[in-house]
Amino acid sequence: MTGTRRLYYEDQYMKEFDATVIDAWHNDDKTCVVLDQTCFYPGGGGQPCDTGILEGDGWHLVVERAYLDGDKIMHEGVLEGRMPEKGDKVHGAIDWDRRYRLMRMHTAAHIIGCVVKKLFNARFAGGAIGVDYSYDDYTARIKRDDLPRIEEEANKIVEAGLRHIVRIMDRDEAEKYLEKFGERLTELHEGLERIRILEIEGLCAFPCGGTHVANTREVGRIKLLKRESKGRGITRIRYTIEP
Ligand SMILES: [Zn+2]
Repeated sequence: MTGTRRLYYEDQYMKEFDATVIDAWHNDDKTCVVLDQTCFYPGGGGQPCDTGILEGDGWHLVVERAYLDGDKIMHEGVLEGRMPEKGDKVHGAIDWDRRYRLMRMHTAAHIIGCVVKKLFNARFAGGAIGVDYSYDDYTARIKRDDLPRIEEEANKIVEAGLRHIVRIMDRDEAEKYLEKFGERLTELHEGLERIRILEIEGLCAFPCGGTHVANTREVGRIKLLKRESKGRGITRIRYTIEP
Protein backbone atom coordinates (compact mmCIF):
# COMPACT_ATOMS: atom_id res chain seq x y z
CA MET A 1 0.00 0.00 0.00
CA THR A 2 1.28 3.42 -0.88
CA GLY A 3 1.01 6.50 1.27
CA THR A 4 -1.53 9.30 1.21
CA ARG A 5 -1.02 11.96 -1.47
CA ARG A 6 -0.87 15.33 0.31
CA LEU A 7 -3.11 17.65 -1.63
CA TYR A 8 -2.50 20.51 0.84
CA TYR A 9 1.04 20.72 -0.53
CA GLU A 10 -0.20 20.88 -4.13
CA ASP A 11 -2.68 23.65 -3.37
CA GLN A 12 -2.73 25.25 0.09
CA TYR A 13 -6.13 26.75 -0.74
CA MET A 14 -7.87 23.44 -1.58
CA LYS A 15 -11.01 23.13 0.55
CA GLU A 16 -12.69 20.04 -0.94
CA PHE A 17 -11.48 16.95 -2.74
CA ASP A 18 -12.45 13.49 -3.99
CA ALA A 19 -10.60 10.41 -2.84
CA THR A 20 -10.78 6.63 -2.38
CA VAL A 21 -10.71 4.76 0.94
CA ILE A 22 -7.64 2.56 1.30
CA ASP A 23 -8.32 1.42 4.88
CA ALA A 24 -10.81 1.94 7.70
CA TRP A 25 -11.29 0.63 11.23
CA HIS A 26 -12.92 1.35 14.55
CA ASN A 27 -10.81 2.59 17.42
CA ASP A 28 -12.92 2.48 20.61
CA ASP A 29 -15.78 4.91 19.90
CA LYS A 30 -13.93 6.60 17.01
CA THR A 31 -13.56 5.56 13.41
CA CYS A 32 -10.33 5.92 11.50
CA VAL A 33 -10.30 6.28 7.69
CA VAL A 34 -7.21 6.31 5.45
CA LEU A 35 -7.50 7.80 1.96
CA ASP A 36 -5.34 7.67 -1.17
CA GLN A 37 -5.24 11.50 -1.13
CA THR A 38 -6.40 14.27 1.17
CA CYS A 39 -6.22 17.99 1.83
CA PHE A 40 -6.56 17.46 5.61
CA TYR A 41 -3.35 18.82 7.13
CA PRO A 42 -2.24 16.24 9.74
CA GLY A 43 -0.66 18.74 12.11
CA GLY A 44 3.04 19.41 12.57
CA GLY A 45 5.57 22.22 12.79
CA GLY A 46 3.47 23.87 15.50
CA GLN A 47 0.34 24.01 13.32
CA PRO A 48 -2.71 22.03 14.50
CA CYS A 49 -4.44 19.53 12.22
CA ASP A 50 -7.53 20.25 10.15
CA THR A 51 -11.04 19.15 11.05
CA GLY A 52 -13.94 18.65 8.63
CA ILE A 53 -16.07 15.97 7.03
CA LEU A 54 -15.76 12.91 4.79
CA GLU A 55 -18.83 11.76 2.90
CA GLY A 56 -19.19 8.32 1.35
CA ASP A 57 -22.17 6.42 -0.05
CA GLY A 58 -24.15 5.44 3.05
CA TRP A 59 -21.81 6.99 5.61
CA HIS A 60 -20.15 10.17 6.73
CA LEU A 61 -17.37 10.87 9.16
CA VAL A 62 -17.09 14.04 11.21
CA VAL A 63 -13.31 14.34 11.30
CA GLU A 64 -12.11 15.58 14.68
CA ARG A 65 -8.46 14.83 14.16
CA ALA A 66 -6.10 14.13 11.27
CA TYR A 67 -2.62 12.81 11.92
CA LEU A 68 0.31 11.31 10.15
CA ASP A 69 1.24 7.66 10.66
CA GLY A 70 4.27 6.75 8.54
CA ASP A 71 3.39 7.96 5.05
CA LYS A 72 -0.38 7.76 5.59
CA ILE A 73 -2.79 10.36 6.91
CA MET A 74 -5.41 9.16 9.39
CA HIS A 75 -8.84 10.81 9.57
CA GLU A 76 -10.33 10.07 12.97
CA GLY A 77 -13.79 11.01 14.11
CA VAL A 78 -17.40 10.09 14.67
CA LEU A 79 -19.05 7.85 12.06
CA GLU A 80 -22.68 7.93 11.00
CA GLY A 81 -24.04 5.21 8.71
CA ARG A 82 -22.31 2.04 7.57
CA MET A 83 -18.65 1.21 8.04
CA PRO A 84 -16.46 2.67 5.24
CA GLU A 85 -14.80 0.01 3.06
CA LYS A 86 -11.67 -0.12 0.98
CA GLY A 87 -12.48 1.21 -2.51
CA ASP A 88 -15.31 3.53 -1.34
CA LYS A 89 -15.41 6.86 -3.15
CA VAL A 90 -15.30 9.81 -0.76
CA HIS A 91 -15.89 13.54 -0.94
CA GLY A 92 -13.99 15.42 1.72
CA ALA A 93 -14.18 19.00 2.95
CA ILE A 94 -12.05 20.68 5.58
CA ASP A 95 -13.35 23.31 8.00
CA TRP A 96 -12.06 26.17 5.87
CA ASP A 97 -12.69 29.01 8.31
CA ARG A 98 -10.48 27.25 10.85
CA ARG A 99 -7.78 26.32 8.34
CA TYR A 100 -7.66 29.74 6.68
CA ARG A 101 -7.20 31.38 10.07
CA LEU A 102 -4.39 28.92 10.86
CA MET A 103 -2.78 29.73 7.48
CA ARG A 104 -2.95 33.46 8.24
CA MET A 105 -1.66 32.89 11.78
CA HIS A 106 1.17 30.67 10.51
CA THR A 107 2.18 33.31 7.98
CA ALA A 108 2.15 35.89 10.79
CA ALA A 109 4.68 33.66 12.58
CA HIS A 110 7.02 33.86 9.57
CA ILE A 111 6.58 37.63 9.34
CA ILE A 112 7.37 38.14 13.05
CA GLY A 113 10.31 35.73 12.65
CA CYS A 114 11.55 37.86 9.79
CA VAL A 115 11.40 41.08 11.83
CA VAL A 116 12.96 39.52 14.95
CA LYS A 117 15.77 38.21 12.80
CA LYS A 118 16.40 41.62 11.30
CA LEU A 119 16.22 43.57 14.58
CA PHE A 120 17.83 41.09 16.99
CA ASN A 121 19.59 38.62 14.71
CA ALA A 122 17.56 35.99 16.58
CA ARG A 123 16.51 32.54 15.47
CA PHE A 124 13.16 30.83 15.80
CA ALA A 125 13.29 28.28 18.65
CA GLY A 126 9.84 26.67 18.59
CA GLY A 127 6.26 27.81 18.91
CA ALA A 128 2.60 26.92 18.59
CA ILE A 129 0.03 28.20 16.15
CA GLY A 130 -3.53 28.49 17.45
CA VAL A 131 -6.83 29.59 15.96
CA ASP A 132 -7.19 32.43 18.50
CA TYR A 133 -3.67 33.00 19.82
CA SER A 134 -0.18 31.84 18.92
CA TYR A 135 3.31 32.11 20.37
CA ASP A 136 6.86 31.79 19.13
CA ASP A 137 10.15 31.54 20.98
CA TYR A 138 13.25 33.40 19.82
CA THR A 139 16.89 33.23 20.79
CA ALA A 140 17.10 36.82 21.96
CA ARG A 141 16.41 38.90 25.03
CA ILE A 142 13.48 40.93 23.79
CA LYS A 143 12.07 43.54 26.15
CA ARG A 144 8.52 44.71 26.55
CA ASP A 145 9.53 48.09 25.11
CA ASP A 146 10.66 46.34 21.93
CA LEU A 147 7.20 44.98 21.12
CA PRO A 148 5.71 48.13 19.48
CA ARG A 149 8.66 48.33 17.08
CA ILE A 150 8.41 44.62 16.16
CA GLU A 151 4.65 44.98 15.66
CA GLU A 152 5.08 48.04 13.47
CA GLU A 153 7.71 46.39 11.27
CA ALA A 154 5.60 43.21 11.01
CA ASN A 155 2.56 45.18 9.88
CA LYS A 156 4.65 47.00 7.29
CA ILE A 157 5.37 43.60 5.75
CA VAL A 158 1.64 42.77 5.86
CA GLU A 159 0.71 46.05 4.19
CA ALA A 160 3.41 45.66 1.54
CA GLY A 161 1.45 42.69 0.14
CA LEU A 162 4.52 40.56 -0.50
CA ARG A 163 4.24 37.16 -2.09
CA HIS A 164 4.78 34.18 0.21
CA ILE A 165 6.42 31.71 -2.13
CA VAL A 166 6.70 27.93 -1.71
CA ARG A 167 9.94 26.44 -3.04
CA ILE A 168 10.75 22.75 -2.91
CA MET A 169 14.33 21.75 -3.51
CA ASP A 170 16.99 19.13 -2.88
CA ARG A 171 18.83 19.29 0.41
CA ASP A 172 22.10 20.71 -0.98
CA GLU A 173 20.30 23.36 -2.98
CA ALA A 174 18.10 24.21 0.03
CA GLU A 175 21.12 24.72 2.27
CA LYS A 176 22.67 27.15 -0.20
CA TYR A 177 19.36 28.91 -0.69
CA LEU A 178 18.74 29.33 3.05
CA GLU A 179 22.29 30.62 3.55
CA LYS A 180 21.42 33.67 1.47
CA PHE A 181 18.81 34.54 4.10
CA GLY A 182 21.05 33.67 7.05
CA GLU A 183 19.07 30.51 7.79
CA ARG A 184 20.06 26.87 7.95
CA LEU A 185 18.55 23.43 8.28
CA THR A 186 18.34 22.01 11.80
CA GLU A 187 17.84 18.63 13.42
CA LEU A 188 14.14 18.99 12.52
CA HIS A 189 15.06 18.44 8.89
CA GLU A 190 17.31 15.45 9.39
CA GLY A 191 16.74 12.65 6.92
CA LEU A 192 14.66 14.78 4.56
CA GLU A 193 15.83 14.63 0.94
CA ARG A 194 13.50 17.32 -0.34
CA ILE A 195 13.12 20.52 1.62
CA ARG A 196 10.13 22.83 1.45
CA ILE A 197 11.05 26.47 1.88
CA LEU A 198 8.67 29.38 2.42
CA GLU A 199 10.06 32.70 1.26
CA ILE A 200 8.59 36.08 2.03
CA GLU A 201 9.52 37.56 -1.32
CA GLY A 202 13.15 38.65 -1.09
CA LEU A 203 13.07 39.23 2.69
CA CYS A 204 13.30 35.93 4.55
CA ALA A 205 13.09 32.22 3.96
CA PHE A 206 12.32 29.44 6.42
CA PRO A 207 12.18 25.70 5.94
CA CYS A 208 8.59 24.76 6.84
CA GLY A 209 6.05 22.01 6.30
CA GLY A 210 2.90 23.92 7.25
CA THR A 211 0.22 25.75 5.30
CA HIS A 212 0.36 29.49 4.66
CA VAL A 213 -1.34 32.26 2.72
CA ALA A 214 0.16 33.29 -0.62
CA ASN A 215 0.34 37.03 0.07
CA THR A 216 1.29 38.76 3.31
CA ARG A 217 -1.69 41.14 2.96
CA GLU A 218 -4.07 38.23 3.65
CA VAL A 219 -2.71 37.95 7.20
CA GLY A 220 -4.53 41.05 8.42
CA ARG A 221 -3.23 43.16 11.28
CA ILE A 222 -0.70 41.43 13.53
CA LYS A 223 -1.08 42.27 17.19
CA LEU A 224 1.66 41.40 19.68
CA LEU A 225 0.14 40.62 23.08
CA LYS A 226 3.04 40.07 25.45
CA ARG A 227 6.54 38.75 25.88
CA GLU A 228 7.87 36.32 28.49
CA SER A 229 11.42 35.38 29.29
CA LYS A 230 11.87 31.62 29.05
CA GLY A 231 15.43 31.73 30.46
CA ARG A 232 18.66 30.87 28.65
CA GLY A 233 18.24 33.98 26.50
CA ILE A 234 14.96 32.79 24.98
CA THR A 235 11.97 35.13 24.72
CA ARG A 236 8.43 34.00 23.99
CA ILE A 237 6.24 36.37 22.01
CA ARG A 238 2.47 35.90 22.13
CA TYR A 239 0.41 37.34 19.32
CA THR A 240 -2.82 37.24 17.37
CA ILE A 241 -4.21 38.53 14.09
CA GLU A 242 -7.13 40.84 13.42
CA PRO A 243 -9.88 40.42 12.36
ZN1 LIG B 1 5.54 27.92 8.10
